[in-house]
Amino acid sequence: MSRKYNFSAGPAALPAEVLEQARDEMLDWHGQGLSIMEMSHRSDAFVSVAEQAEQDLRDLMSIPDNYRVLFLQGGATSQFAMVPLNLLGDKTSADYINTGIWSKKGIAEARRYGYVRIAGSTESEQFTRVPTQDELELDPNAAYVHYTPNETIGGVEYNYIPDTGSVPLVADMSSSILSREIDVSRFGLIYAGAQKNIGPAGLTVVIVREDLLGKAAAATPAMFDYQVHAGADSMNNTPPTFGWYLAGLVFKWLKRQGGVAAIEAVNRRKAAKLYDYIDSSSFYANPIAPDCRSWMNVPFTLANAGLDGMFLEQAEAAGLLNLQGHRSVGGMRASLYNAVPEAAVDALIEFMQTFAQQHA
Ligand SMILES: *Cc1c(COP(=O)(O)O)cnc(C)c1O
Repeated sequence: MSRKYNFSAGPAALPAEVLEQARDEMLDWHGQGLSIMEMSHRSDAFVSVAEQAEQDLRDLMSIPDNYRVLFLQGGATSQFAMVPLNLLGDKTSADYINTGIWSKKGIAEARRYGYVRIAGSTESEQFTRVPTQDELELDPNAAYVHYTPNETIGGVEYNYIPDTGSVPLVADMSSSILSREIDVSRFGLIYAGAQKNIGPAGLTVVIVREDLLGKAAAATPAMFDYQVHAGADSMNNTPPTFGWYLAGLVFKWLKRQGGVAAIEAVNRRKAAKLYDYIDSSSFYANPIAPDCRSWMNVPFTLANAGLDGMFLEQAEAAGLLNLQGHRSVGGMRASLYNAVPEAAVDALIEFMQTFAQQHA
């Protein structure tokens, strides 16, 4: 068996150690004679797995006690609707910051439920940076402020947490959760689809401050009501048990790496190496303002787009997978999530150097 280096934006690389453990436990979980996928979500065995995963995530992110952690389905895209349905309450509008494709999708969905005020946007600059705190025009009467800390497609990331005063801050952290330390108490709600930095697709993690629960619009489907899920410990119906279990293995793995502070240092180094190389080369380019560059998703272009196909073909032959940029932007994108080892970045840079020499 040879595992290649996987730069996929999502579903993305998982730690080999985690996959090996899941394999070893697949047919017979802890001597129970069946797999974790085949047991009741209400069994003592699964409930212990579920509770441990939540505790490990709480430890990793230092989640305060007045926050609930929910293990849901429907992806981040369902959260685009759940957030306004649950948080608008008796307010009439919410503030959204527009920094790219994922922000726009959140905005479009929220418009189905209420008035969306754009509190900041860098669209006129092709999303090559995010707004500064000073540029935000926040409405103190907004129900909440929604933003996208890391734009997975554009490769633009905030290096600060917006200060929204007493208005709850909501973050779509799908592609940056657990990549660096954050102060959870600055947020009203954090959500993330699991398939980038947490585990397999099919699981969505929501971290929500307790006082924001219980205000869902009357017609909200029960499955879209955070209060319903919080009241049932995320077992209002059958939860995504395998994803929850695997996320738990990833959380344990992250703890073994030294936790979020330790992986943050690795992530910072991985990204710096790749950006430094791109900037030093006249063959490759990245358009994002240096202080807004994503640590997780690094888009880059070749001087001659006619070589894109050959680049991808030769990269794949060299064991470097899934470097093709998003279909909406073209070029390349290397996603450097937690589970992508530093050696993968070294191998990518070496390949890029060789390719540039051959085609400059
Ligand atoms: C991947 C992604 C989404 C979409 O997630 P789904 O789980 O496919 O719904 C939304 N927002 C961001 C920032 C993402 O990276």
